[in-house]
Amino acid sequence: MSERKPIPKSVKKVLRSEVGFGCPVKGCGNPYLEYHHFDPPVSVKPHNEPEGMIALCAQHHKKADGGAYTIEQLHALKKDKANAKLVRGNLDWLRKDLLAVVGGNFYYETPRIITIDNIDLVSLVRDEDGYLRLNVNMLSLEPDERIIIEENSWENIGSPLDLRSPPQGKELEISYHNGDYLYLRFIELQSFEQAQQRYETDVFKDITFPITAVEVNMTIAGTRIELTPISSQLGGIKMTGCLSSHCGGGVVIQNSGIQWKQNPVWKRKTLVEETEHPNVVKVNFGRR
Ligand SMILES: [Zn+2]
Repeated sequence: MSERKPIPKSVKKVLRSEVGFGCPVKGCGNPYLEYHHFDPPVSVKPHNEPEGMIALCAQHHKKADGGAYTIEQLHALKKDKANAKLVRGNLDWLRKDLLAVVGGNFYYETPRIITIDNIDLVSLVRDEDGYLRLNVNMLSLEPDERIIIEENSWENIGSPLDLRSPPQGKELEISYHNGDYLYLRFIELQSFEQAQQRYETDVFKDITFPITAVEVNMTIAGTRIELTPISSQLGGIKMTGCLSSHCGGGVVIQNSGIQWKQNPVWKRKTLVEETEHPNVVKVNFGRR
């Protein structure tokens, strides 16, 4: 076996960014990336030199291990961001019961978790099979695209500084140049004691364990909206360790006075175009 050390986080970040956060093999774009050593292969020399490594999805990583691509082809692919626009993924954790841990507070059977200016920032919907699916509208003060998660499917990532989506599909982390940030993770909580230890609170006494938790943290740069692992800062309010159970709405903020440039507002504007005729608008029903 090789004596190679674990790949440093900084190297992984460089490799993800080089390929535009999606597997660079033609037509792929899979964001669940692994890291392949090819120049030289680890069997020749254990190394973690980014110049001789490439980010690939699990399927194309196996093919690369099998010798499908030449060294020259891998060097070319490594600089290829052509698949950046294909980058999208799915959160495969389907559960009928979920504890949402959003900005250090707990939401159980509370579908609209955080709503700002009538936009659901974080919410859950139950699909026709009874599974809870996550929606996240990542708002921003920047007029650029931000990731949208709709019923567990995510896309519309825009141009992130980094997107980390490990193949196990438990985590998703995305950050943008202006400081906008989203992190989510699924975790199985086997017992009340485990939950108590992890979150240092016992507010969920009435919840039946085991249960799956989805943790969501988010920062909207330039605002006082920050959902960290320990607290929610929402304008002048700071909340920590509260449980909302069986509530129609968790946190609702109206008339924030913030001029949102993204996401729903930005998307809607591109879907409806005005025409020369005052009573006619052109609506683009296709997905962009
Ligand atoms: Zn691939």
